[in-house]
Amino acid sequence: MKQLVVATRNKGKIVEISALLTGLVDHVSSAVDFIDFPETVEDGATFEENALKKAREASRFSGLPALADDSGLVVDALNGRPGVISARYAGGGAGDAANNALLLDECRNVPDEGRQAAFVCVLAFVTPEGVERLFAGRVAGRILHSARGEGGFGYDPLFLVDGFERSMAELTLAEKNAVSHRAQAFMKFREYLASVKPELQ
Ligand code: IMP
Repeated sequence: MKQLVVATRNKGKIVEISALLTGLVDHVSSAVDFIDFPETVEDGATFEENALKKAREASRFSGLPALADDSGLVVDALNGRPGVISARYAGGGAGDAANNALLLDECRNVPDEGRQAAFVCVLAFVTPEGVERLFAGRVAGRILHSARGEGGFGYDPLFLVDGFERSMAELTLAEKNAVSHRAQAFMKFREYLASVKPELQ
């Protein structure tokens, strides 16, 4: 595919997504490359609704095929919170540190055996011609009692990845991109692109 716009301003995501699209797209642009790129109101009740809304607005605005991900952390003991409000868990503009502090606080009485969680990602692909597709990924883990590691972004330092003795923030970018929720959704997107008509690629 020649050109694709990724509907995000999140620098952490842009780094990961660019790596995940290597060899697939000649030119990847993102919201930060445009003036007045639409700021989609993420008011959907599900990751699917939000991802689709972002991708539709991005494609309409840019006239290009657009990819949007909606992702977040789902904690079993918190009945699925923070979920779709992961980015603004501690309030709009609060940032990762405040979100992580709130997560630790809300989990303070949850014993080790009840700290299961998952990162979830839903990817929406929308083209100006009206193609709309969704791809989902999920990685399981548990919530740590304190932050570990310097890599990644968001809740990574508090998420111990199942099958690893390390937090998501202790994985290298290559390791994270081999297992992450976003990587799994992108794998499905890559398979889809490889299977469709050449004019979409
Ligand atoms: P979105 O931009 O609405 O998809 O918000 C996603 C939010 O979920 C981010 O701001 C992070 O707080 C969290 N999140 C999503 N993916 C990851 C990840 O890979 N690591 C850590 N936090 C993540």
